[in-house]
Amino acid sequence: MLVSRFMQQRLGTSSAIRQAFEKAEQLKKVHGADNIFDFSIGNPSAPCPAGVRAALEETARKTAPELHGYMDSSGYADVRSTIAASLARRFDTPYKASDIVMTTGAASAINALMQTVLDPEDEVVAFLPCYPAYRVFVENWGARLVEVPFDEETMLPDLAAFERALTPRTKLVIVNTPNNPSGVVYPTAAADGIAGALFRAQREFGHPILLLSDEPYRDLVYDGAQNPWWPTIYRNTAVVYSFSKSASIAGERIGYAALTPGMADRDALLAGIRRSLGDIGFVNAPATAQRMAAACADDTVDIAYYDRNRRMLASALVNAGFDVVPGNGAFYLLMAAPDGDERLLLERLAAKRIVAVGGSDFGAPGYVRLSYCLPPEAVSRALPLFAQVAKEYRLSAQPALATLEPAAAPVQHAPFTVLFAS
Ligand code: PLP
Repeated sequence: MLVSRFMQQRLGTSSAIRQAFEKAEQLKKVHGADNIFDFSIGNPSAPCPAGVRAALEETARKTAPELHGYMDSSGYADVRSTIAASLARRFDTPYKASDIVMTTGAASAINALMQTVLDPEDEVVAFLPCYPAYRVFVENWGARLVEVPFDEETMLPDLAAFERALTPRTKLVIVNTPNNPSGVVYPTAAADGIAGALFRAQREFGHPILLLSDEPYRDLVYDGAQNPWWPTIYRNTAVVYSFSKSASIAGERIGYAALTPGMADRDALLAGIRRSLGDIGFVNAPATAQRMAAACADDTVDIAYYDRNRRMLASALVNAGFDVVPGNGAFYLLMAAPDGDERLLLERLAAKRIVAVGGSDFGAPGYVRLSYCLPPEAVSRALPLFAQVAKEYRLSAQPALATLEPAAAPVQHAPFTVLFAS
């Protein structure tokens, strides 16, 4: 057998998101794309921001080979300067170009950071519900994933359990807000609770703990919600960003890692990430996509596009009698299986040509994740089908969704220098 034992094990547990996506693609071939409602994968459909086109036009004029060649493993210096300046301006954090490494999406940044910091005996803590690839990535580097449970009322981390999950072996903690799969933006109290536990653990164990803030959905927030800016509350943070969702260019594979100025072991971490990009085989982030990233540094898709989908879908589901967590960010929501059986709900949805993903893969069994980044007309055409599924369960309408009421004033975060602590 040419396939390693490690990969054989992996093949036995293929990603539920990919499985659902592939199922939707097959069904589209049979029934026609317009007749399948693919709520499975987070493949954005909002039109790209203007910068994407500008960067492609600029690239079309650049036929000199050196403009498409290998480069420094961190990426183009001018692209990194543009991104550092944008972050400094928006988040009051003094980044320089040298704090940024351009990467092949968020996924490569996460793996490069993990390869840089993890030894086999190390533990990585993640908050459920979470992106299933975290486990796979952690295991890529031989470390162990420790999962923190969540409160089903709020979908937020159980902070007492987080405190208990931190041990002398904890090297890395991953936080993801706005969250995939819940769509929830962590409020200030949750962020402060996480940072407080990290400060105490660092002091008690006598070594730094890296917080990896995985932020592909940072700019997709609704109802005036403000996502925590971790570098101001916990210095030992590496922010990982991706343009996949905010600029609708997931297939172009572009993102970055930003190391907080003054964080522990910054220079060694930077050297490690650059080295890792070569070792894993990414070499450097794609050249044209870097130009797209620079052109979109301050720009995103029209957020209202997804907000309309969110409101339309969440209210229709609640009116049909489903129990949903509408969230205030990203483009996902969790819907509880009426009798707790997510398989049955997935089957009933599939019978109506709606493809979704079970919550178990995200550590949220009994739920189904709906990714509402598909075109609004597709969401709208799917609503009566969801209502038919609700009827099969004999559900009746829930009270109106308080969370979709206009939001309170956004929380203001203190500037970098005030809360800066380690
Ligand atoms: N992190 C989270 C939470 C995600 O949802 C995704 C993609 O869906 C990624 C990372 C990977 O993003 P990218 O496509 O930029 O590699």
